[in-house]
Parts: sequence; C-alpha cells; structure tokens
Amino acid sequence: MIVGKPFLSAGQIQTKVGELARAISRDYAGKNLLAVGILKGSFMFFPDLVRSIEVPLMLDFIIASSYVKSQTTGEVKIYYDVREDLSDKDVLLVDDIVDTGITLNHIRERILARAPLSLKICALLDKKERREVDVPLDYVGYVIPNHYVVGYGLDYDNKYRNLPYISIFRKKA
Ligand code: 5GP
Repeated sequence: MIVGKPFLSAGQIQTKVGELARAISRDYAGKNLLAVGILKGSFMFFPDLVRSIEVPLMLDFIIASSYVKSQTTGEVKIYYDVREDLSDKDVLLVDDIVDTGITLNHIRERILARAPLSLKICALLDKKERREVDVPLDYVGYVIPNHYVVGYGLDYDNKYRNLPYISIFRKKA
C-alpha cells in the first residue's frame, strides 16, 4: 500500500534509529535513564529505539494530543502522564515529529515542573521551518521540509500508522 510519494524507507528509518540509539547509549552511560514515549505517534519509533539502546533504562509514556482548532493557543490535552518519581531520573522524551513545537513544548514544561535530574528530547522528524515555539531538540533523526507525512506511527485521521515506512501524504494519491 503506497499512500503517496515514498519518502523514507523502512531500511533508512532503521539505520537512523540505530544511529540515534548509539548516541543515546554513549551519552547516558552511568545515568539513571527514564525514556518517555509520546503516544500515539511514537508507538513504532519508541520501541525500536529503546530496543537498540544499550544502557539500562526505565520507560514510561505520555498520551497527548493538541486541539487542532485551538493550536495557536497551544491547548494540549494529556490523557496519560508519567507516573515515575522524576527527582532522581534523567528523562529522555521521545517524539515522532515536531511541527510548530507547541505540543512538545507543553510536555517539556510539564516534565520540567517535576524537577528531573536532567531532560533531553529525541525526535525522529523535525519540520524545522514550521517552528513557532523554540523547543530544544537534542537528538534528531531527519530534518524534513513542510510536507504532511504518514506511516511508521504517523497518521492521517488515525489511519496509516501501521506502515513500516514514511510517505508524503496526498489526499488523492
Ligand atoms: P506541533 O505541536 O509540533 O505543531 O505538532 C506535533 C504533532 O502534530 C505531532 O506529534 C503529530 O501528531 C502532528 N503532526 C505534525 N506534523 C505532522 C505530519 O506531517 N504528519 C502527521 N501524521 N502528523 C503530524
């Protein structure tokens, strides 16, 4: 099933995941890593990444979504939040794609308010040119142009998340 122009193949994605995991493993040696997957979008990226990280870690999730209609006000709804005590944890937030940065910035501030030992962010895709809020990204897979992409966890209307690759989505593809 091809929903649009193929953009990143399953092989390219897995190679990039390996590179990110190696950098994270190097940086978190001897630390108290808590990897936090932001759902639903990172439901493929997060497990692939943590499987390849070679230092001990704990994991948890955040389920969040931003209201499309009120995106400019930055209204983000949290359906499930991290339950671990963060005061002794080096938190790594793992996200699928950063667009305006509003959602991730909201989550970042929420985590920072709980005073973790440290906080870093890993995102597979970065639509840098769309950024409205300056959120610091520590590990980035690919900086991509302003296309709407689906697959590998990313949806259109909650569909196409199961594709093992990433495509540029066109409604009438
Ligand atoms: P932001 O708050 O950064 O504007 O939006 C981030 C969220 O918007 C992502 O986690 C994702 O759910 C959604 N999003 C942004 N760009 C895309 C895209 O190109 N494709 C898909 N499927 N979702 C996107």
